[in-house]
Amino acid sequence: MRTVLGDAEPSELGICDAHDHLFLSSPQLAGQELDSVKSAARELAAFRTAGGESLIQWTPHGMGRGVGYLAELSRASGVRIVAATGLHQAVHYTPELLDRLRTGGLAELFVRELAEGIADTGVRAGLIKVAGGFHGLDAHARWTMRAAAEAHHATGAPIAVHLELGTGALDVLDLLCGELDVPPDRLILGHLNRSPDLTIHHQVAEAGAYLAFDGPSRAHHATDWRMPEAVRSLAEAGFAGQLLLGGDTTTSGARAVNGGPGLPYLLRGLRPRLELAVGKDVVERMFTENPGRAFAVEWA
Ligand SMILES: [Zn+2]
Repeated sequence: MRTVLGDAEPSELGICDAHDHLFLSSPQLAGQELDSVKSAARELAAFRTAGGESLIQWTPHGMGRGVGYLAELSRASGVRIVAATGLHQAVHYTPELLDRLRTGGLAELFVRELAEGIADTGVRAGLIKVAGGFHGLDAHARWTMRAAAEAHHATGAPIAVHLELGTGALDVLDLLCGELDVPPDRLILGHLNRSPDLTIHHQVAEAGAYLAFDGPSRAHHATDWRMPEAVRSLAEAGFAGQLLLGGDTTTSGARAVNGGPGLPYLLRGLRPRLELAVGKDVVERMFTENPGRAFAVEWA
């Protein structure tokens, strides 16, 4: 487990928000940026008060990760933080930045950020985040996934995937595991709850990948309420060990300190609801042991 304060044992992770954002900027979310250090600190403190002990930030390269602030925020809050390298969909970047990355070597960038550090902060990333498309993978997604697989093979770091509206999971498995030999248990597929097709969920779990469920979110309100049903179905089929939970706070308005559900909701709202679906013990494992295993790394 590579945190922003150094490597830690998986057992030290404690109660973990396995997919969230303290900092995030994108032209797609103009005016809603997560860029306030003060708000991030207050949100983390609220998470800590609710019982949270660690947070995996899935914000990839070039989206305002706030890497320079993460170590101090972690120290001040007592919450362990893991940072990401990787690249999101093309719409989140300027063409100039993508051109630069195309000539500069994307896999090399990922490896550098995992093994040496991000820019000159000395903070190293602990996961590689990439993204699929709506029911498929475009050329940009394939390029970034090839680089992610290469960086995984060079370092051992896990790959976390944004599935657009929860779709395209089988395409991602075909490419990363089928074609590029990434072991399925080094793969974490995010947002599957946004497409509540339980048959697909079971296929992904049978393939051996982790499923990271997240929310709630104003944008995905239509399907958010079906998450407990998906969790129960997977747990009953014996896949409880592959389930992760996160808040995925992507806008300032979604933060608890700004009146939204934010980080604390995961523990105050979602946890008791899931306990009704699958019981306390299973939910406890989803918040602790599972992320400990999913984000553990034998660094190559
Ligand atoms: Zn996210």
